[in-house]
Formats: sequence, C-alpha cells, structure tokens
Amino acid sequence: MSEKFIPIADQRILRGGAVIPAVRQPANGLLSDTLGRPLHDLRISVTDRCNFRCVYCMPKEVFDKDYRFLPHSSLLSFEEITRIARLFIAHGVKKIRLTGGEPLLRKNIEHLIEMLAALRTIDGEPLDLTLTTNGSLLARKARSLKDAGLQRVTVSLDALDDAVFQRMNDVDFPVSAVLEGIEAAHQAGLGPIKINMVVKGGMNDQEIVPMARHFKDTPFIVRFIEYMDVGSSNGWKMDEVVPSAEVVRRISAEMPLVPADPNYIGETAERWRHAGGGGEIGVISSVTQAFCSDCSRARLSTEGKVYTCLFANHGHDLRALLREGRSDEEISAAISHLWQLRGDRYSELRTASTDGLGKQERKVEMSYIGG
Ligand code: SAM
Ligand code: SF4
Ligand code: SF4
Repeated sequence: MSEKFIPIADQRILRGGAVIPAVRQPANGLLSDTLGRPLHDLRISVTDRCNFRCVYCMPKEVFDKDYRFLPHSSLLSFEEITRIARLFIAHGVKKIRLTGGEPLLRKNIEHLIEMLAALRTIDGEPLDLTLTTNGSLLARKARSLKDAGLQRVTVSLDALDDAVFQRMNDVDFPVSAVLEGIEAAHQAGLGPIKINMVVKGGMNDQEIVPMARHFKDTPFIVRFIEYMDVGSSNGWKMDEVVPSAEVVRRISAEMPLVPADPNYIGETAERWRHAGGGGEIGVISSVTQAFCSDCSRARLSTEGKVYTCLFANHGHDLRALLREGRSDEEISAAISHLWQLRGDRYSELRTASTDGLGKQERKVEMSYIGG
C-alpha cells in the first residue's frame, strides 16, 4: 500500500509515533496550530538525569537507586538533535533552550552548543540560545559555555537559607556553590541572568522576601514560579500553590513594587519593578493565570519525542523517523503535521476546574520532557 493511503492511526503504529502526512506544508515559518498559535520556541531536554532530587520535580521516593533512567543508546546524539533543531528552525523557531534533567551533566554539552550556535533563523539571524540549570556545575563551566556560543543562562534557586535550600534539593547541596555559579556566569557574560524560584507553600515560601531583597539592586532578575502539577510523581496539591498575587503582596509590603510592561507578547513572566529603582522581579502564574493562548513552545524529549504541551501524556517520536532513514523533507512534514493538529491548553482547563485535572491521566515527568 502506498504511504498516501495509510490511515493516520495505522501510520502511527507503523512508525512508532510521528506521522508523515501525505500533503506536505512547506517550511516557511508560517505554521500555526488549531488555536492560531505559531511555533517559535523549542526546548530540548539533553538528559533525564539530575544530581538534585528537588521535592517538586524528582522526589527521592520515586527517583531512587532502582529508578531506570534512559540508556545511552536511547538518547538523541548531538548530530540528531542538531538536525531536528534545524528542521524546527525552518518552521519558524527562533529560540532554543537546553534543559533536562540537569543539562550540564550531559557530556561535552559545549560541543552541542557550538553546533546549535552555528544555525541561523529563517531571517538569517543567530538563534536565541539559552540553557536552564540548577547551577551546581556552573562555576566550573560558565566560561566554556560562553566560549561555545551560549548567550544566556537561567539558574534555578529555591532559597537562600542553606537549610531550606538543602531540604528543597534533598541532596544536601549547599547554596553557596550555586551563588558562586551565578557570579561566574555573570563574569563570563552569560546575562542577563534570570533566577527561577519555585515556591512550594509550607516548604520555602518564607524565602520569597529574602530572595527579592538579596537580588534587589543587582543585574539578576528573580522570577517566582507557581508550583505546578507536572508529571505524576510530586504529589501536587492545589493548597501548596502560593498564588503570584500573594508573592507580589508579600514583597510589596516590604519593598514597594510597580507593574512593568511586558517585553514582548506572550512573555510568560509578569514583570514588576521596584518603585524608586533597584531592578525588577517576575512572577510566573502557570496555575492561577494560565497563558496557553500565547504558548508557542514545543519540547523535544531526551529520546527524541516531541511534546506540544508540558502536560501532555503523548509524544511524537521523531527519533524513529531519524533512525529509519527518513529524509529531511519527511521529518519536516511530520513536524508541521503535529503542530497543525495541536490544540493543547492544559493550564487553562485546569484553572477552569481548579481541582487538578492532573489526577486523571498519567503525565510525563518534567525531568524527562524538559522544564
Ligand atoms: N535542572 C535544571 C534546573 O533545575 O534548572 C533544568 C531542568 S528543571 C526541570 C527546569 C525548571 O523547571 C526549573 O526552574 C525547575 O525549578 C522547574 N520545575 C520543576 N518542577 C516544577 C514544578 N512542579 N512546578 C514548577 N516548576 C518546576
Ligand atoms: Fe533536577 Fe532541575 Fe528537577 Fe531540580 S528541578 S530535580 S535540579 S531537573
Ligand atoms: Fe503551553 Fe501547555 Fe503550558 Fe498551556 S499548559 S502554557 S499549552 S505548555
């Protein structure tokens, strides 16, 4: 039977995931999904492993010594990642973020960065190439990352108090080493540096004001993130979410804040400036104020599946296409097909019901899909 006449469901079974459609959309950067959203960002998870066990992401009870991480042969190679990235870029991607797991654990990550930094957007511009890290290896690697072509880093830091920080990362990692990493990244020119703090009520919310105070009058922008019901391991409960409005209220009570305009449409963080100078903070209200209507992000998992939503429970397997020798044109067509079918708006639906839709179906873990 020719490919053209294979029904979609059968094609999925035959090729283990992504569908190559019979009618192919040219890669002209004009893709849009069923809700009219373009494809602009690609997050690439380069490893599902991590040296932290953050309570909200990789709880120790689940990610223990018996947990089976992906074998090396399952991981996309740097050549495979770069090839997929190039095809996404042809469809309009302008920004690539490397993530994981902990991306700095991937051996020779600098080499992948060099390969990606050489790519150009459809307008012939360099990519916006960034990386999210827990900062543990940054003091050692900041310079080589910059030299390889990385533009910026986002560092996760959930507390300044050492005891609270160690309770959050659950591997006794000291906060001083992450602060050194942030400074090294700044010195290497990997800025402007954003610092992400996930706020989990009853665990680290007492650190909101100290974090805002510590980074006031510095070039670093702290962004407070609502604890999300990603994956199926973290035992998420709505009453552990500290709403962004509460974060702003607590900081403002000590250091008055005024709202700032977004940098661009679809910015996930809402910006606030310290009144009278001193820099800004951001809040990311993924739970209380969903921003699905502007979401232009695709995610490539460590083993080559594309997820069109952080909360998806099904990925489209591009690695199968790569490894069975499909052409660029076919893989590009599979990418356009999956994006055109996309209708995800999980957070909006969760906000509408507020009772954690997440309990209904098993979702993929953040460390696998990439945060
Ligand atoms: N290991 C790196 C790090 O921690 O920065 C990169 C991967 S991590 C999965 C990416 C981001 O997702 C981090 O800023 C982390 O705090 C955030 N994250 C993980 N689980 C989360 C959750 N349940 N809710 C909100 N943010 C979460
Ligand atoms: Fe590791 Fe990042 Fe997840 Fe923490 S948030 S466990 S550092 S992947
Ligand atoms: Fe995007 Fe899905 Fe998050 Fe909505 S829930 S903003 S569609 S990743």
